[in-house]
Amino acid sequence: MGITDTIYSKLPSFLQNWVVSLYGLYWKWLRFGGEYNSFVKAYASRDIFSEEKWASFQSENLKKLLQICMNTVPYYSREWTLAQKRAALNGDLFALPLMEKAPFRANPNDFVRIDRKPLFKITNYTSGSTGTPIASIVTASEMRKFMAIREVRSAGWARVSFNEPRATFSGRLVEPDPESKGPFYRLNSVEQQVYFSPYHLRPDTAHFYIEALKRHKIQWMTGYAVSYYLLAKFVIEAGLEVPPLKGVITTSEKLTPEMRLLMEKAYGCRVYEEYSTVENVLFASECEHGRLHISPDAGVVEILRSDGSPCDPGEVGEVVATSFLRTYQPLIRYRLGDLAAWDIEPCPCGRAMPVIKEVVGRLEDVVVGPDGRQLVRFHGIFTNQPNVIEGQIIQEALDRIRVKIVPTEGFSEIDTFDIINRVHQRIGKQVEVVVELVQGIERTKYGKFKAVISLIQK
Ligand SMILES: [Zn+2]
Repeated sequence: MGITDTIYSKLPSFLQNWVVSLYGLYWKWLRFGGEYNSFVKAYASRDIFSEEKWASFQSENLKKLLQICMNTVPYYSREWTLAQKRAALNGDLFALPLMEKAPFRANPNDFVRIDRKPLFKITNYTSGSTGTPIASIVTASEMRKFMAIREVRSAGWARVSFNEPRATFSGRLVEPDPESKGPFYRLNSVEQQVYFSPYHLRPDTAHFYIEALKRHKIQWMTGYAVSYYLLAKFVIEAGLEVPPLKGVITTSEKLTPEMRLLMEKAYGCRVYEEYSTVENVLFASECEHGRLHISPDAGVVEILRSDGSPCDPGEVGEVVATSFLRTYQPLIRYRLGDLAAWDIEPCPCGRAMPVIKEVVGRLEDVVVGPDGRQLVRFHGIFTNQPNVIEGQIIQEALDRIRVKIVPTEGFSEIDTFDIINRVHQRIGKQVEVVVELVQGIERTKYGKFKAVISLIQK
């Protein structure tokens, strides 16, 4: 736990609301200040682009981006061969090598351009969808781009807005006490945003979450798909009454048709899926016809076979993305670790943005607490753990969690203690935590990394 989390966890909950709101003021400026409105206008104006317009937009931006990489980013200017640099000058992306996560994780500053010194930089250490911590560095301007594209293509298509009161399920430690009797959320009054704690969601706490929606007149909800699914399940089981909502936009985990059906029944509104990554290398959102469109102005997305050739439509392959959303620490042909397929069926909405048919391999297992609470995205305990190269959570019994760790040389007892503490904080102190240091973590037969494995019957 970082020092700010430690201080935060010792404050009474009314002061935590103040901290959240004060922090909210800063975040509002960071995300919705500066050029935000002009970004919104630009994304909205491109919504109606034809295929030809998208193609020329992409080739123009690709040339600019690749030149920046070649001339100002140490990693690319050193690693690319002469032939690759010539290709980069012509904007020929496919002649360039695929980018692995390992060098990015080992030295994130090697990917930062040397000709820019932004006043505000935000570093997100994240466990990512593969459980591997990565320092993603973005500027304030880039943060505004991320929010603008979400406002237009995600919220906008679902007919809601970030200007309206919303609830969010995310990996933030909202309520530090695992034994808390509530409240299980904090209010950011600056944005009328309720942050829900995913770690306290249980059948007996679900009604507190629904009451928060009523009290703060929440219009729509966004965040972790599995958390909203679990809440929906508890709502139906207990027959809770949900106030009118305009929509739910899920992120992070794959939204299955079963999850969607149950959520639409529980919440009485439409559920939309958003597909993005914490590194913001791509962006896809669902239109009114339920299709997941890739935004070509967020970057170039490829779906590749294991030999590197492009997949045919409908064929599942590895997702590789080159982001236009970030030029300070640019990512070129970045291997996300997700599997997906293209859909060639044109969408009746008429937007000329490619449709992704399936995104597989992101549905993570749920960890169950001794008291029945179900926890998602549990591998979030590896966030901001620079001495953990890879980590995996294995639930062996209701009261025993094994944490496998591939450590760096600097890993010490302090890190072990911190990890045990983080598990206890989320699931309760009565659970035995075994930290096991390993050389490497096994992959599934599809080569996918599983961040969470559950060995118990649920
Ligand atoms: Zn569509």
